[in-house]
Amino acid sequence: MLTIDNLHARTAGKDILKGLDLKVGAGEVHAIMGPNGSGKSTLASVLSGRDGYEVTAGSVRFNGQDLLELEPEERAAAGVFLALQYPVEIPGVNNTYFLRAALNAQRRSRGEAEIDSVEFLRLVREKLKVLSLPDDLLKRGVNSGFSGGEKKRNEIFQMAVLEPALAILDETDSGLDIDALRQVADGVNALRSPERGFIVITHYQRLLDYIQPDFVHVLVDGRIVESGDRTLARELEAHGYGWVAERHLADA
Ligand code: ADP
Ligand code: MG
Ligand code: MG
Repeated sequence: MLTIDNLHARTAGKDILKGLDLKVGAGEVHAIMGPNGSGKSTLASVLSGRDGYEVTAGSVRFNGQDLLELEPEERAAAGVFLALQYPVEIPGVNNTYFLRAALNAQRRSRGEAEIDSVEFLRLVREKLKVLSLPDDLLKRGVNSGFSGGEKKRNEIFQMAVLEPALAILDETDSGLDIDALRQVADGVNALRSPERGFIVITHYQRLLDYIQPDFVHVLVDGRIVESGDRTLARELEAHGYGWVAERHLADA
């Protein structure tokens, strides 16, 4: 589904990604861990086509398309969901309205008919149920006055409604409490499917206890230097990132 080959990227005049390789197949959940400043969020930004990031080498292919050629909206329409896409607060615009607009934009660009209100309501209610989320989420302004946990919950809800082929979740450095972690994990688990891939960026080993990724990768200094199954996350928890970084330096 996704093939990242030798990706180099820079921002603010600084090289951050320095030859990153990663393959994500349909149905797989990949966790990316790594020390602070190693480039995890930069990777998410580059994949979503966020402004201010320049790709200087390498390629990213997504279902046969050159992802880097696509505008951010085209990437979303192609089925790439980045949680960071919607952290904005839009007071006065309710969630339902916002989601329907996003869903219809996606449908239009695929040449599909827009969803009518009855069908849309059925869809969102079904998703709320699957995720055990409260109905009042629909009526609230987009992220306005949301706590960290509520934003996460909303993010998962948006993801469920937009049904992406590839979901990229960057759990940022700001402290997520245990409830928010659970929410993210439960959401990912509920939306796992043979057609859908996930990239879950986190430095919380705990999140991976709940999600149980198929693969764990360690990003150090702009490259993936170690990959393994989820036992790797446990080793990192027990021994830190130092040993991986040292091995990486010894190999270089
Ligand atoms: P991580 O998510 O792994 O903590 P980031 O991708 O956020 O790492 O950051 C990698 C490096 O790039 C850091 O040194 C950070 O300071 C720098 N960086 C990231 N985004 C910007 C930006 N917009 N402007 C300046 N420096 C940035
Ligand atoms: Mg960081
Ligand atoms: Mg980050």
